[in-house]
Amino acid sequence: MARLRPFGETIFAEMSALATRHDAINLGQGFPDADGPPSMLSAAQHAIAQGRNQYPPGLGVPELREAVAAHQADHYGLDYDPATEILVTVGATEAIAGAVVGLVEPDDEVVLIEPYYDAYAASVAMAGAHRRTVPMVAEGDGFRIDLDALAAAFGPKTAAVVVNSPHNPTGTVFTDEELAAIAELCLAHDAIAISDEVYEHLLFDGRPHRSIAALPGMRDRTLRISSAAKTFNCTGWKVGWVSGPADLVAGARAAKQFMSYVGSGPFQPAVAHALRTEMNWVAASAAALQDKRDLLVVALTTAGLRVHRSEATYFVCADPRPIGYDDAAALCREMPARIGVAAVPVSAFVDDQQSWGHLVRFAFAKHDEALHQAAAALQRLA
Ligand code: PMP
Ligand code: GLN
Repeated sequence: MARLRPFGETIFAEMSALATRHDAINLGQGFPDADGPPSMLSAAQHAIAQGRNQYPPGLGVPELREAVAAHQADHYGLDYDPATEILVTVGATEAIAGAVVGLVEPDDEVVLIEPYYDAYAASVAMAGAHRRTVPMVAEGDGFRIDLDALAAAFGPKTAAVVVNSPHNPTGTVFTDEELAAIAELCLAHDAIAISDEVYEHLLFDGRPHRSIAALPGMRDRTLRISSAAKTFNCTGWKVGWVSGPADLVAGARAAKQFMSYVGSGPFQPAVAHALRTEMNWVAASAAALQDKRDLLVVALTTAGLRVHRSEATYFVCADPRPIGYDDAAALCREMPARIGVAAVPVSAFVDDQQSWGHLVRFAFAKHDEALHQAAAALQRLA
């Protein structure tokens, strides 16, 4: 089908398959190699044993919607009515697709900040809409949004902007100034913000997470998306959610009900339990992740790559040009066989290959043992 033909197989699947074939350490696809809190795992088993194995309600089980509402009130002072303003989805992926397909008209425009998570462009294509990309630019060892390009990307056809802070793949946390600039443009152009905050709890060095939904005027035009996957190390459970004003949530729901109808039943009470009782586990897990970031940053730097600052997420980006590699995609296809490490090229997240084709994304949500092995292997790159 023409609209989806350009997307092919996702880079994550391709690189994970290569990692498996060569028995390589998989620092490509972003998933942790440890389980979430034991009480959450038991809660899912308990839900199955209790017979909660049939279709849950369309919006998601009430206890999860209530737990999501309580969590957002606690953490961000955001109040959502669990009866009409929260929708449980099949991961953040379905939340994104449902929001875009349910709320963007064909031929409307959606602003994406580049690099962008691959599902955004595919969702825009599924809606028959068009993406307008705004580049992030390297500054010092980090990245910032080109605010002039951002302003230029908004126009009469703009229906939505997708905001992703903390940002995959760069690990950047958008500044208050950047979030305010996006909010101002949404208000000026009557656009909505689709805010993908799946890494909301994985920030480092004491940085706080801010949601664009909490900025003045934005609660009523933001769909805030998150997921249990990264917060509770359960990427295979596919439990996500959308929160926002009832009219926007209804739009996403209209699409969602024909994508999956409902999500998996027994995992929802387990995630509700985790949101209510396991946030200390999450804080400890984020602290451990920061140490893992440090370990990988040292390894990459020692191997001769130029490493960008990772402020959050599972990821750090590095430039291998100083050791002679210009083409990150070629390097990523070669690494599993040659040194036994897999990573993904940032080229998979961009339209502008020229500016980003050299950069490699490494995931560090792995056991220290795996990271130490990868660190040793990376020294063989040069
Ligand atoms: N958004 C971003 C930025 C991601 O990195 C991911 C991958 N976890 C997703 C969405 C998808 O989340 P889920 O696995 O909950 O569908
Ligand atoms: N979000 C994960 C990443 O960025 C992978 C999700 C997927 O495989 N689609 O690596």
